Amino acid sequence: MSIKAPKGTKDILPSEIINWQNIEKTANDVFSKANFKEIRTPVFEDTDLFERGVGDTTDIVNKEMYTFIKSDRSLTLRPENTAGVVRAYLEHNFHRESPPVKLWYKGPMFRYERPQAGRQRQFHQIGVEMFGIQDASADAECIFLATEFLKRLGLSDLVVEINSLGCSECRKEYKEQLKRVIAPFLGELCEDCQNRYEKNPLRILDCKNENCNRLFEEHDLKNKVSGIKLCPECSQHYSDLKKYLDVLNIKYVENTFLVRGLDYYTKTVFEIKSNNLGSQNAVCGGGRYDGLVETLGGAHTPAVGWAMGVERLNSLIPQLSNDKIDYFVVSDNKIEAVKLTAKLREKGFSAEFDYNSRKFAKQLEKAAKTSKCAIILGEDELKNNYLTVKNLETSNQEKKTFEEL
Ligand SMILES: [Zn+2]
Ligand SMILES: [Zn+2]
Repeated sequence: MSIKAPKGTKDILPSEIINWQNIEKTANDVFSKANFKEIRTPVFEDTDLFERGVGDTTDIVNKEMYTFIKSDRSLTLRPENTAGVVRAYLEHNFHRESPPVKLWYKGPMFRYERPQAGRQRQFHQIGVEMFGIQDASADAECIFLATEFLKRLGLSDLVVEINSLGCSECRKEYKEQLKRVIAPFLGELCEDCQNRYEKNPLRILDCKNENCNRLFEEHDLKNKVSGIKLCPECSQHYSDLKKYLDVLNIKYVENTFLVRGLDYYTKTVFEIKSNNLGSQNAVCGGGRYDGLVETLGGAHTPAVGWAMGVERLNSLIPQLSNDKIDYFVVSDNKIEAVKLTAKLREKGFSAEFDYNSRKFAKQLEKAAKTSKCAIILGEDELKNNYLTVKNLETSNQEKKTFEEL
């Protein structure tokens, strides 16, 4: 019986890798222009970090974590990377640097979910985190980086949805209002919603359960709750954000029901949607999380960031194909072929020869599949010290010396 990749995982094959490399390179280009530095944290952390950092009312922590015990220690494969970045930020005393601290990351994340189109158990995210700035210009900067990154990858039909969840004070009244409206049909909602009702009623708005969503419509939930009434400070912050987005020419839509699936957000939350994705159309999600650093044992530190799923992103952008190499050395004399190939690589060309010493015709066939040009190195060429260069696209053939190449 042959072994297959585990359910919910995927090999990224050589034919696909060019797109991944392009996405990662573009991320590096765009983020480093804004002076964001890459950080790489471990793929597993203490389970406690995610329980405290992601929040114990989230689906991620309750149902989706890969947790294992080693030497009496509970460890978890990271389901997201913000908690890990905050842990590193504190562990390496980044908070002593003068703010802001601007970081980005890329890498695999792990969630035990039912695999479906565009959703895997091992998936990849790219994200940015910015620490130390309370001003809404930081929120706008992060949103700008996301849209810039997406545009550079060729996505133009972007919609940025924004909302402000306010601070815990702003939310108090809203939570009560939400609970009042939901109370009459609470018993009919899913088990998750029942749990969220006391712990974090805002998250009910985020429920993906079809029955719950039908009930919300039936009971006209969206018209019965007025949205969060922001306190003067949060309200100022939100209008500042909109001003910055205007200045940056970023089109946005306000969505008062945007709450995001994590517990730690404060004030700004946002999603960036692309129109050619069908129902799962969010490509980027993020927001401000001013309380998280404190929750994980640091001093109060304002922070804002976002993450993008790379698989989903990759499904939206044009698929590039691998480049052909520059030269394929076709020769009967393998020693000379090895020597010439090495010399070509030394000069900065990509080059290959036939490891199998097949007939000329076979070698040329192989060359046509993988290379832009064939260099023929036959008896006459070796005797008279020249090369026959055949352009495999035009079939043009020329005699050249190595120097002329
Ligand atoms: Zn507030
Ligand atoms: Zn529900």
